[in-house]
Amino acid sequence: MENQFLVLNTMLGVLIALIVLLILVIIYLLTSRRLKDDISQTNNQQQLSKTPSDPLLHPNSSQNSSQVDPTTKIAEGNCHFHDELRGVGICSICGATLCESCIINHDSLNFCNEHFHLFLSNNWKVIEKVKTTPDQAHLGHYLYNFKEYLWNTLNTPSYIIVNYKINVEHDSIESDIELYGPEAETEALQKDIQKFKH
Ligand SMILES: [Zn+2]
Ligand SMILES: [Zn+2]
Repeated sequence: MENQFLVLNTMLGVLIALIVLLILVIIYLLTSRRLKDDISQTNNQQQLSKTPSDPLLHPNSSQNSSQVDPTTKIAEGNCHFHDELRGVGICSICGATLCESCIINHDSLNFCNEHFHLFLSNNWKVIEKVKTTPDQAHLGHYLYNFKEYLWNTLNTPSYIIVNYKINVEHDSIESDIELYGPEAETEALQKDIQKFKH
């Protein structure tokens, strides 16, 4: 009698232990799934907040291609100097597509060999600065047009630097677009660029 009672008691103990284990496993599974859901949700939100047509994050979006900063634009086609090599960036001054071995990166700008030396041998000054947001991207277009005009028509070198800032308050991306030209020509260039504003 006493023996039977002992066996029953042990079985009951084992049963209770199993039930407790099962409950623990269920709790663990539930919490880990919720955690995963939370993580994927925040990931989605991050992706969503990045969606505003930011040219840096969407370099291939044709919609904004004209506004894309030449220094961050992804190079199209092959190297200007090596037909057979893929381009990895473009020169900030002449816009030539450059391969891995031709490109010189300096202060977050890319240069071809010739214009890297030109860059180092000149003093540069800001000619014009424009603040834009994704929905006002067109405000900076004249800087690019002026740069192209300077290079193609007057053979005057210049380069553009774009600084991106995230405006937390408005949840938007702002960019400061700065056009730099040779310091000695600052005044003349600052006057010239006014004709390109509209
Ligand atoms: Zn160049
Ligand atoms: Zn090359």
